[in-house]
Amino acid sequence: MNTTAPIAPMDTPTRWPWQPSFGALGATFRTPCPPTPLAPSHWVGCNPRLLAELGLPADLWQSQEALDALSGNALAEGSAPGATVYSGHQFGVWAGQLGDGRAISLGEINTPVGVQDIQLKGAGPTPYSRRGDGRAVLRSSIREFLASEAMHGLGIATTRALCVTGSPTPVFREERETAAVVTRVAPSFVRFGHFEHFAATGQTEDLRALADHVVQAHFPALQTLQDNARYCGLLQEVTRRTAALMAQWQAVGFCHGVMNTDNMSVLGLTLDYGPFQFMDGFNPEHICNHSDSSGRYAYARQPQVAYWNLFCLGQALMPLIDDQAPALAALETYKALFPQALDLRMRAKLGLSDAQPQDHALVESLLKAMQQDRVDFTVMWRRLSQAVFESAQLAHAFDPVRDLFLHREVFDAWRIQYEARLGSADRRSVGQQMLRTNPKFILRNHLGEMAIQQAKAGDFGMVQALLDVLHAPFDEHPAYEGWAGLAPEWASSIEISCSS
Ligand code: AMP
Ligand code: MG
Repeated sequence: MNTTAPIAPMDTPTRWPWQPSFGALGATFRTPCPPTPLAPSHWVGCNPRLLAELGLPADLWQSQEALDALSGNALAEGSAPGATVYSGHQFGVWAGQLGDGRAISLGEINTPVGVQDIQLKGAGPTPYSRRGDGRAVLRSSIREFLASEAMHGLGIATTRALCVTGSPTPVFREERETAAVVTRVAPSFVRFGHFEHFAATGQTEDLRALADHVVQAHFPALQTLQDNARYCGLLQEVTRRTAALMAQWQAVGFCHGVMNTDNMSVLGLTLDYGPFQFMDGFNPEHICNHSDSSGRYAYARQPQVAYWNLFCLGQALMPLIDDQAPALAALETYKALFPQALDLRMRAKLGLSDAQPQDHALVESLLKAMQQDRVDFTVMWRRLSQAVFESAQLAHAFDPVRDLFLHREVFDAWRIQYEARLGSADRRSVGQQMLRTNPKFILRNHLGEMAIQQAKAGDFGMVQALLDVLHAPFDEHPAYEGWAGLAPEWASSIEISCSS
């Protein structure tokens, strides 16, 4: 992260001191491109906590100037709007040149939490739109807005979303919908695909400039290393972050849905929310993207796909690295880092603070039982946490967990092993810890869908209320108890595809 001193807060986007994105990299990397107006626009959702983190005034939402700038209807003064070029592998196949087809960066601003790139997603066509319209629909924009806050609330690295604006302008997908713009915020939107692009086109010096820029801005500790070691260090660091991210996704039952290399962040952020889903009933083979006919991006395959994607990044960096061996060694660390990170997460979910040889089997047998009965992933872990918390006083504390299983005898047998493993640990403090690890609220598809339907009817109250709840997913929120329950029957009929 850039350590430049924070600036004093500025009133509106038109007075923010903008710097072009991608620093000094210049025209090879950033093609100037203004947003295309969508007037008339209105606010759909705003993220007051992110606004505060960025040191921006709380009343920004009162400003017409901000609405105009953040929906792309007026150019923020001093901003340097542009789109970047990248390539990538989509569904395991080289797709050639892609690029920001519907995301326009206004530029970077210096904030109390470091330099942040401010991007308008859905602000109209760019030189990289190919056959697309450069737009995003209200439905998918609300999903991205809520999901990125949900991930942040869960402590999972992600791009953020400052606001969503909507407009009656029609956008045609499978049916006629309306347009929206999400203002996305991240220290950087650099993707594996950016590296793949300059490697594939043989632009080795541009590739080096990109790598050096990423190192300088985001991995400064690597800066003093010699070339080979610096680029292998970069690969190592991206590998480490990606392994940590995958462990976090798996531990909350998050399916990304489109883990193409152009959707992978070199900072290890969750990036490009499309057909994602937080799983309801536990099924490792779950495919959330209806366009993913082969199940390449099924829940259980995500960690392996991430490794495959890291190989693509490694391949792209090879023109900068003389010797394959250290690059392969950097990639190889994934094989230890990911399982270690996942074991740590799963042990934490069970309230186990130390590691024992039998822990892996304990986790596996629970997951197997959950899979067999399609037990709701989030409700199970939350009820288990509550049960442990109450088990010091209550004889039947585990009954609400047991009730989730069809094969109760399987759960009973597991519970005996689990309680033996907990041993004499203080149940209240273990339970308390588990309640801070296993969320009560996740962005279930049906909750997003309800908020979307209300927003389509002009009521944005649920979008804002969901944002608040998902920001603090480990808290109780008694007024919203219903949002913590099992998915209703109709949730399984929600179809989410890439078309957004
Ligand atoms: P995605 O599957 O959303 O990651 O998108 C893959 C590529 O298609 C990226 O280069 C996007 O910028 C581009 N893209 C997706 N939707 C649109 C759209 N509506 N208009 C233009 N480009 C798009
Ligand atoms: Mg994408």
